[in-house]
Amino acid sequence: MNLITRLEASHNQWQSRLLEMLKPEQRLRRILEREFERFYHAQIQAILENNPEIIETLIGEWITGFEPSWPNVKDFLNTIYFSAYEVNGKTNDESLDEVFGQLIHYHLMAHEYLIKKEANLQLIRVKNEIERVRHELESLDKSKTDFISVAAHELKTPLTLIEGYTSMLREIASSVGVSSQFILLLGGIDSGSNRLREIIDDMIDVSLIDNNLLQLNIQPLWIDQLLGMIEREISLKISERKIKLIIQRFDGDHELFFGDPERLFQALLNIIQNAIKFTPDGGMITVAGRKLPGFLEITVQDTGIGISPEDQMRIFQKFQRIGDTSLHSTGKIKFKGGGPGLGLAITKGIIEAHGGGLWVESPGYDEQKLPGSTFHVLLPIQNNPPDDKIARLFGTLMKRTD
Ligand code: ADP
Repeated sequence: MNLITRLEASHNQWQSRLLEMLKPEQRLRRILEREFERFYHAQIQAILENNPEIIETLIGEWITGFEPSWPNVKDFLNTIYFSAYEVNGKTNDESLDEVFGQLIHYHLMAHEYLIKKEANLQLIRVKNEIERVRHELESLDKSKTDFISVAAHELKTPLTLIEGYTSMLREIASSVGVSSQFILLLGGIDSGSNRLREIIDDMIDVSLIDNNLLQLNIQPLWIDQLLGMIEREISLKISERKIKLIIQRFDGDHELFFGDPERLFQALLNIIQNAIKFTPDGGMITVAGRKLPGFLEITVQDTGIGISPEDQMRIFQKFQRIGDTSLHSTGKIKFKGGGPGLGLAITKGIIEAHGGGLWVESPGYDEQKLPGSTFHVLLPIQNNPPDDKIARLFGTLMKRTD
C-alpha cells in the first residue's frame, strides 16, 4: 500500500484520534477539524508534487494566524504526527516503515521550517521591542531636555532679580558705609548667585546641544593662546591645591585655527577643571597634543583617581556622575567636588559641533593607586575662514600680534 492510499484509508481514524488527544472544546474542535483537513490535503499534495513547500506555506499561515486559545503550532504538529503513528501502527501493515519514513521526513521539514519561522518572528518581536524602548527613551530624554530648558528659563528671572537687588544693596552699602560683616554677607549672596548662574547657563547649553541649536561663533584663534588663557584662569586655584599644570608645546598649537574661541575655552577649561577635581593635592596635569593628518589632537592627562571602563562612556551623558554623589562636596576644583554632571555632555557637544570628537582613556578607578585619566580632544584643522563673510570680517586680525 503506498503512502497516499495509507493516508486516505486512515483519514477518519487519524482525525478522531487527533481530536481525542487534543480534547478541544466545541468551538475549537470545529476549527481544529478544519485545520486538520487543510493539513491532510496539503500533505497529500506535497507528496504528489514532491513539494514540501506546500506544507511550509500552511505552517507559515498557522504561525502568523493562530489564536492564543489554540494549541501552539509545535504541539499541534506533534499531535498530528503521533496520532498518525498510533492509528497506522494498529494496522500491522508491513509497508508501515516506508510510510512513516516519508511522513516523518515531511514532519521534520515542517518542524525545521517552524523553528526558523518562529526564530524569525521572535527576532522581529525583539526588534520591535528594542524599537519601542528606544522610542520611549527618546521621548523620556526629550521630556528631560524640555524640563531642563523650561526650568533654566524660569530660574533665570528670579536670579536676575537677586543679582539686581544685591548690586543695589552693594551701592547703598558703599554710599552709607556699612560694617565689614555686612560686606562679607553680600559677598556670600554674590558667590551663591554666581554659582547658580553657572548651573543655569549649563542647563541652557545642554538643552541647546540636545536640540541641535548650539551656534558657533567662528573666529580666528590659536590653540596655544587659548591654553595660555586657561592656565591664567586656573593658576591661583591649582596652586591652592598644590597641583602642577604642565602645558607642552606641540606641532600646530601656534597655527591659525578657525573655531569658536569662547566655546573651545569653555570645553578645554571644563576638562582641565575636572582633571583638577579628580586629582588629589600634589598631583600633576599635563596638557599635550599632536598634529595628525587633518586634525589636531589635544590630550589632558591627570594623576587622579581614574575612571572605570564601564563609566568611560557614561560620563559623557548628561547628569552622569560616578560613585556616591551624596558624599561629594560641591565646587569647581575641590577634590572630588560635585557638579550637576552636565560639564562633559556640554564639552562633548561643543567639540562635536566643531566636527571633532572627545573620549577618555583610563586604566580604571582607584583612589589609592591613582591610575589617572587621559581625555582626548580631536579637532579637524580649520586653517581657512569657513566663508567670505568671516574672511572679510577678520581679514586684518588673522595675523598674530605676539
Ligand atoms: P560634573 O563635573 O558636574 O560632575 P562632568 O560631566 O564634568 O560633571 O563629569 C562627569 C563625571 O565624570 C564626574 O562626576 C566624574 O565622576 C567623572 N570625571 C570627569 N573627569 C574626570 C577625571 N579627570 N578623572 C576622574 N573622573 C572624572
